[in-house]
Amino acid sequence: MSAKIISGNEVSKQLKDEMKEEVVKLKAQGMEPCLSVILVGEDPASKVYVLNKKKACEYIGIKSLETRLPATTTTEELLKVIEGYNNDKTVHGILCQLPLPKHIPETKILRAILPEKDVDCFHPFNVGLISIGEVRFLPCTPAGVIELIKRGGFETAGKDVVILGRSNIVGRPLSNMLDQRDMNATVTMCHTKTKNLKERCAAADIVIGAIGRPEYVKADMVKEGAVVIDVGINRVDAPGTEKGFKLVGDVAFDEVKEKAAAITPVPGGVGPMTIAMLMKNTLTAAKEAFFKK
Ligand code: NAP
Repeated sequence: MSAKIISGNEVSKQLKDEMKEEVVKLKAQGMEPCLSVILVGEDPASKVYVLNKKKACEYIGIKSLETRLPATTTTEELLKVIEGYNNDKTVHGILCQLPLPKHIPETKILRAILPEKDVDCFHPFNVGLISIGEVRFLPCTPAGVIELIKRGGFETAGKDVVILGRSNIVGRPLSNMLDQRDMNATVTMCHTKTKNLKERCAAADIVIGAIGRPEYVKADMVKEGAVVIDVGINRVDAPGTEKGFKLVGDVAFDEVKEKAAAITPVPGGVGPMTIAMLMKNTLTAAKEAFFKK
């Protein structure tokens, strides 16, 4: 059996098309959703992410603002920029691209963004809301994972889910979301100190890889007919190719796809979903601001 490939490129396109239609209707009611992105420094990967976010905004019809600051920016200067966007009623979402230069404390910056504009869903207030099942925003990558499972046609209720990785960006919020009453999964979150990790994976109905270890999840770690979602993005050498490297996930795709019921590819799986979910959060923020004013 070869697995169904759940394409993040296709699902994210569907989502963006749905949002595009919604934005037309919102604009007809006099609202223009707006996302502000702040980029500090010259990190090449961050520049690409910011560009992709801008392109997604353009596609959907969301206004996008951008502030580019030098790597020498002080914490106080960055806080001032955030304060400006916090106070600007025409801005609905604020995103500060990570990583920040080492001298700027990330937590201080992320907590300065107003929770109602925190479209990355990194503010402890919004994280806390998820824990008690009162969701405003969902963190983008975990929300993308769940959307792929749902739109791939798979249920989470009553399923045993193993998540590899417990980071605050992926594993932990995903676990928090999947065992809520609307998802009803039974979740095991694994990390470097987990015992019998291989056996736990092999018993799961759904395996989610988010550890940043190239092709770590092999076929013998996956149950026949499991759903496998690969969050990992790892750069590995590929001599003889144009770039000299390629991107692979945390799952050994070629062997696992022969055993799983469904699997997401890397690239083209969870990656494109992250931006789509950011756009969704921006629309949520805009609607909350507009209809509650
Ligand atoms: P991270 O902060 O480095 O966390 C990695 C987690 O994996 C940690 O909890 C670590 O355990 C665990 N881990 C590492 N090696 C392990 C092993 N051999 N066995 C069991 N657990 C192990 O990483 P992250 O930010 O969550 O990212 C994870 C991967 O997802 C990376 O490849 C990243 O590029 C990718 N990612 C993709 C997207 C996307 O949009 N598709 C978004 C974010 C991240 P300990 O806690 O014990 O150290």
